[in-house]
Amino acid sequence: MTDRYAVFGHPIAHSKSPLIHAAFARQTAQDMTYEAILAPLDGFAASVAAFVAAGGRGANVTVPFKEEAYRLASRLTPRAEHAGAVNTLVFGSDGILGDNTDGAGLVADLTRNLQRTLNGRRILLLGAGGAARGVIEPLLDQQPAALVIANRTVSRAQELAEQFGRGVRASGFEALDGAFDLVINATAASLAGELPPLSPRIFTADTLAYDMMYGRDTPFLAFARAQGAATADGLGMLVEQAAEAFHLWRGVRPDTAPVIASLRA
Ligand code: NDP
Repeated sequence: MTDRYAVFGHPIAHSKSPLIHAAFARQTAQDMTYEAILAPLDGFAASVAAFVAAGGRGANVTVPFKEEAYRLASRLTPRAEHAGAVNTLVFGSDGILGDNTDGAGLVADLTRNLQRTLNGRRILLLGAGGAARGVIEPLLDQQPAALVIANRTVSRAQELAEQFGRGVRASGFEALDGAFDLVINATAASLAGELPPLSPRIFTADTLAYDMMYGRDTPFLAFARAQGAATADGLGMLVEQAAEAFHLWRGVRPDTAPVIASLRA
């Protein structure tokens, strides 16, 4: 019987995950389907239960259910535990395993696709929401020289810095001054077409500015480019986090490069 997978979100119609997983399944000859499911805002757990009862083997979880998925899982991987959020579920006879592949997806995109070294580099992470939280531990595992978290609400950045320790520092946007090798925008500002109040001095010609948002140019990327920085959007991260989930479910690692290229085209 064909194995069923799905992504749960609200809204979900815009999701590229069904396209990505269909491409992975074709490429690796896996007998599976992958659909997008719109869960009611107050009915995530019930939607998942219905999918499991109908034979669902695993799922991805997107906005706004990642924290709820964290609570729903009966077991968590260490990286999901640290992130406090789950984007990948595996349904087994022994319950629901929750994982978080966002951070691994970001690091894979930065190091493999964009050929950047993170070890010994100065990294600035903008934002302290779910997306930021999910990538802190995997970034720290690359042993950067510094990781600074800057957020509009500074207390939320401070909470994360305290929680993760390992030399992570917190800041407000305006207080940032020195240059960084990598600046990651994990705020939702780009969704609103806005730019956090950043000093141009955080960018140099050697900086990579990375916006987790994808699909359109953002004020953040335009501002970074105007300072001479290289730029990248979050499409590679999206495909890489999907590949990590696919590997967890199916035990095979798809080739992400052609899938990223076809989505860009
Ligand atoms: P959250 O709602 O959890 O967090 C939002 C964050 O953005 C907070 O830090 C908030 O600051 C900040 N923020 C919101 N509006 C502004 C603004 N106008 N100016 C400055 N800061 C602002 O969202 P997520 O963390 O889930 O998602 C953030 C982004 O990451 C989204 O664009 C999402 O699409 C993207 N993303 C991409 C992924 C990929 O695979 N490429 C994966 C996951 C997320 P405050 O605390 O002050 O409210």
